[in-house]
Amino acid sequence: MEQYKMIINGEAVAAESSNWEAVINPASEDAIAEVPQADYADVDKAVQAAASAFTTWSKTTPVERSTLLYKLADALEAKAAELSQIETLNAGKPIKLVANGDVPFAIDNIRYFAGQSRVVDGIAAREFVEGYTSTVRREPVGVVVSIAPWNYPLMMAAWKISPVVAAGNTVVIKPAPQTPLTTLILAQTALEVGFPPGVINVVTGGGPGVGEPLVTHPAVRMVSFTGSTRTGKRIMELASQKVTRVQLELGGKAPFIVFADADIEAAAYGAVVGAYVNTGQDCTAATRIFVERSRYRDFLAAFTELSQQVRLGTPQAETTDMGPLISMDQRHRVHGFVERAKAEGISLQMGGEIPEGKGFFYKPTIFCEAPTQSEIMQEEVFGPVVVVNPIDSEAEAIAVANDVKYGLAASVWTKDTARAWRVAGALEFGTVWINDHLPLASEMPHGGFKESGFGKDLSRYAFEEYTIAKHVMFDLSGAVKKPWHFSVFGPE
Ligand code: NAD
Repeated sequence: MEQYKMIINGEAVAAESSNWEAVINPASEDAIAEVPQADYADVDKAVQAAASAFTTWSKTTPVERSTLLYKLADALEAKAAELSQIETLNAGKPIKLVANGDVPFAIDNIRYFAGQSRVVDGIAAREFVEGYTSTVRREPVGVVVSIAPWNYPLMMAAWKISPVVAAGNTVVIKPAPQTPLTTLILAQTALEVGFPPGVINVVTGGGPGVGEPLVTHPAVRMVSFTGSTRTGKRIMELASQKVTRVQLELGGKAPFIVFADADIEAAAYGAVVGAYVNTGQDCTAATRIFVERSRYRDFLAAFTELSQQVRLGTPQAETTDMGPLISMDQRHRVHGFVERAKAEGISLQMGGEIPEGKGFFYKPTIFCEAPTQSEIMQEEVFGPVVVVNPIDSEAEAIAVANDVKYGLAASVWTKDTARAWRVAGALEFGTVWINDHLPLASEMPHGGFKESGFGKDLSRYAFEEYTIAKHVMFDLSGAVKKPWHFSVFGPE
C-alpha cells in the first residue's frame, strides 16, 4: 500500500505516533493508500514550523511570493494528468469533471493569487486630520490554519493555501480525512519549486487529535474553514477562547427559480448539472427548484427526462456523468433524508434508491411539491437529491427562496432583465446566477450570507481576509504640546 507522508517544516514525515490510516476509493470501497494519523504532537510541530517560517516569509517581497506561486501553478500543470487520476481515484469524481474542472480551475486560482500578491490597495495616505499624515499598512495575520472538506480536495487546497501565502502568512492545512492525497502532492510540489520549509505544512488524519488542537493552538492567528455549518459553529466557539480570527464557508441549500418566460429547456439542462454535478456534493448545488406554475409541468417533465439520462459508473470512464458519494456514512445520511421525506408523504418523482454493487453510489432523486418547512426543503442533504415546487408570483419566489437558514448561492431563470436584477437584489445569497447555476471565477468572491458563513474565498476579498489593516499616523508638527492636548492641559 502506498504511503503518503505529511509535509511539516519542509520534510515529508510520518506521524510521531507512527500511526497510519487508510484512504478509501469510494467507487470500489478498496483502500488505495495510507496517510499518517496525526495527533497533538504533529499539530504542534506543524504550527511551530509555520510560526518560525513566518518571521522570514512575512518579510519577503510580493514579487518573490508571486514568482513562487506562478512556479507552483506551472509545476502542478505539468502534473495535471497525474493529479486528475489521483483525485478521481480518491474522491470518486468523474474524470471529465476533474480534468476539465477541478484541476485547471485550481491552477487558475493559484495564478490569480500570484498576481494578487502584488496588488495591495486601499485608502491613499494623506492628511485626514490637520497636522498628521495617515497611512494604512496591510499586514499578514500570522499562522493561518486551513481546514478543508472532501468535495473538491485540490481546489480547496488551492483556495486555502494560495491567498494565505500570497499575503505573507504561513499555513497549516488539514485536508478532509477522506481526501488528503492531492493536497499532499500540492504541498510537496511547493517544496520542489522552492517554497521555504514551514511556509506550507499539511497534517492529515481524522481523529479528534487534529482539528480542534489546530484551532486552539496558541500560536495560530486565524482559522479558515470550509465544511458543514455544524462544524463551523464548533470552530467559532473554540476560536472565541483566544478571539482567533475565523473565516467560514459553510453549507448551502441553493434555490433555482424558473419564471414562466424562461427558456425551459435551458433551465432543465442547467438544473441537471446544478443538482447532480459532483454527485450533488456541492455547497452551491441547486437543491430547491421553484417553477412558475404555468410552466411547472413542462419543466418537471424535461428535468425528469434529462435526469434519467445521467450515467452512473466508474469515475475513470469518460462516459460517466456521476460518481459515487464520498463514503458509506454519507450515503447513509443522504438515504436517511430521502426515507424521512417519503415517510412525510412528499411525492417522489424518481430515484431514492441505492444501486446494487460496490461503491457508494446513489441515484438522482427528485421530490415534488414539498412543504417549505419540511426537512428536505430546509436541511442540506449533500447528495443528488432535489425538490421541484411550483410558485405563483415573483414575491412568493423571493419569500420561499429566502426562507432557509443558508445563504450561499441561488439562480434566477428569466428573459426579463428588469426582473432578473430585481430578484438578484432581493435574494439573501452570496452568489446569484442569472440563467445559469454553478460557474465561479477566480476574480469574483465566493462566500455566504446567514448560516452559510462569512468571509470570502477567491478574489481580492479573500486576499484581504488574510491581511490586517493597521493605521499609522505621523505627527507633522514636531510640537511638544499639540493643540488637542488642550483637552488635558488647558486652559492655562
Ligand atoms: P465537515 O464539517 O464534517 O468537515 C470539514 C472539515 O472539518 C474536515 O476536514 C473535518 O475533518 C474537519 N473537522 C470536523 N470536525 C472538526 C472539529 N470539531 N474541529 C476542527 N475540524 C473539524 O464537512 P464535510 O462533510 O467534510 O464537508 C461537507 C460540508 O462542507 C457541506 O456542508 C458543504 O456545504 C460544506 N462546503 C462548503 C463550501 C463553501 O464554500 N461554502 C465548499 C465545500 C463544502
